[in-house]
Amino acid sequence: MNDELLARIDAYVEGLFVEGDPVLSAALEDSKNAGLPEIQISPNQGKLLRLLAELSGARRILEIGTLGGYSGIHFARALPDDGTLVSLELDERHAEVARKNFERAGIYEKVEIRVGDAKETLRGMVEHGEERFDLVFIDAEKEGYLTYLDLSLELSRPGTLIIADNVIRGGSVLEEGDNMGNFNEMFASHDRLDGIILPLLREGVDGVAIARVRW
Ligand code: SAH
Ligand code: MG
Repeated sequence: MNDELLARIDAYVEGLFVEGDPVLSAALEDSKNAGLPEIQISPNQGKLLRLLAELSGARRILEIGTLGGYSGIHFARALPDDGTLVSLELDERHAEVARKNFERAGIYEKVEIRVGDAKETLRGMVEHGEERFDLVFIDAEKEGYLTYLDLSLELSRPGTLIIADNVIRGGSVLEEGDNMGNFNEMFASHDRLDGIILPLLREGVDGVAIARVRW
């Protein structure tokens, strides 16, 4: 399948299931104007993540990699009024844009952005006995994914949903020794995880790894 066909199928699904949303459009616009990279999840993926968060009944969600808050808005919308999204971001410039986007989306009270290297932030959270999360979304720098998975598991309970983004990367994971391929093997064979990878279309093929924490 060529990339143009993939993009048309993605747009087809979006046309069926995703309504235009001024708050999300403004978030993307402001992120772009602030010079943030356009590497957020797709609209269809946002719909999928919101549904998964709602289905899991999540009250506490952990996001690793905030960017301009586009995925975070989807997660926060899935939370009950007293729910919490903790979102970790290295770059204060990104966090600043995300704060404004969360404010405009009217979900600012549910969101806490913690700025710094997420690996350090997570270690601190483990040390300080942070309350466990119901859902974790891993979407920061790809070299960190194995560490993020280990630390996320320390902040999980049986039944926690762990989701990792960009695990297919146009098929580069099929190459021997690929970094993300190594992550996928770990994710698939982990004795605490029961999961699957869901390939997703956009301009090319990517995908999310999804697993329930067994114990
Ligand atoms: N989840 C966002 C996209 C995140 S892009 C969305 O879909 O809307 C990845 C983000 O991870 C970037 O904002 C980048 O600054 C951040 N990041 C990179 N390395 C990081 C690290 N070590 N700790 C925390 N965040 C990091
Ligand atoms: Mg991503």
